[in-house]
Amino acid sequence: QAKLQNGGFQFFNKSIISTFLRKLDLENELRWAIAKNQFTLFYQPQVSVETGRIEGMEALIRWNHPILGPVSPGEFIPIAEETGIIMDIGKWVLKEVCLQLNRWLSASLVVPAIAVNLSARQFLAPDLASSIHEIVHQTNCNPKHIVLEITESSSMHDIESVLPILHELKSFGFQIAIDDFGKGYSALGYIKQFPIDILKIDKSFVQELTSDSKSAVITKAIIDMSHGMDLRVIAEGVETLEQLECLRRMNCDMVQGYFIDRPMPTEQLEKHYLNEV
Ligand code: C2E
Ligand code: CA
Ligand code: CA
Ligand code: CA
Repeated sequence: QAKLQNGGFQFFNKSIISTFLRKLDLENELRWAIAKNQFTLFYQPQVSVETGRIEGMEALIRWNHPILGPVSPGEFIPIAEETGIIMDIGKWVLKEVCLQLNRWLSASLVVPAIAVNLSARQFLAPDLASSIHEIVHQTNCNPKHIVLEITESSSMHDIESVLPILHELKSFGFQIAIDDFGKGYSALGYIKQFPIDILKIDKSFVQELTSDSKSAVITKAIIDMSHGMDLRVIAEGVETLEQLECLRRMNCDMVQGYFIDRPMPTEQLEKHYLNEV
């Protein structure tokens, strides 16, 4: 209390230092996280607007550090991208999904497609397609069950180099989804060049759907455009019944969001969403 006068300054310094230290900590700890088994995958259902039934799910990584506690992907994925650690994390995630798929299929469960996020940085590795191929080969997993989600920004930068990789991944049997559509540049030209199956409308549009008429117009236009190109549309971040009803009127195919369910551990997903053949 006595030193209130420069308290503000001290606080400013401390917060810069602690931000810096936190990042250093996370960076160091991230390097060991795979070996120390600190990652798990949660799965969030994607359901048909028409039937309400599960038609897909997205694998989302979770990091539970014994001392730091849970660290959100929003915080550590950017650090993993900066440092290149994302390359190993990306392989770990895909392999886990393949192994999980095998477990579910051999338990005779009906498994919808599983979406896996690919980070922009992974496309810079010249061996992306072959390392992905190696994983599905090793695990003996059929890529037709897997959707690879790429963000607009990762694809936009360099269409020339991304295009052949996407075609190669498609030829293995993967489906391709564009993630966070509308959030980035939205240079529409690439959409007709890319071998895409699914388009995911960014949650920023969905969340303003019922309050901002322009977001509604854009969302409707994205859905109509997608259908015109034979793409399926998933709306992300659906949190209310009003949003769901609005998307239904717009003929959106699938929804994903807290209103349906949160990302959850495998056991919970099995219990609530997966049935025997
Ligand atoms: P994303 O790919 O756009 O994933 C959707 C995010 O939205 C997830 O956050 C999910 O939990 C959250 N979400 C789902 N429904 C709702 C909703 O109704 N409202 C709101 N506000 N949010 C909702 P999460 O799991 O924290 O992941 C954040 C981001 O981290 C992901 O965004 C993705 O870019 C990245 N990420 C997560 N897992 C992976 C991974 O395995 N690999 C890579 N490369 N990135 C990942
Ligand atoms: Ca995603
Ligand atoms: Ca997204
Ligand atoms: Ca994203």
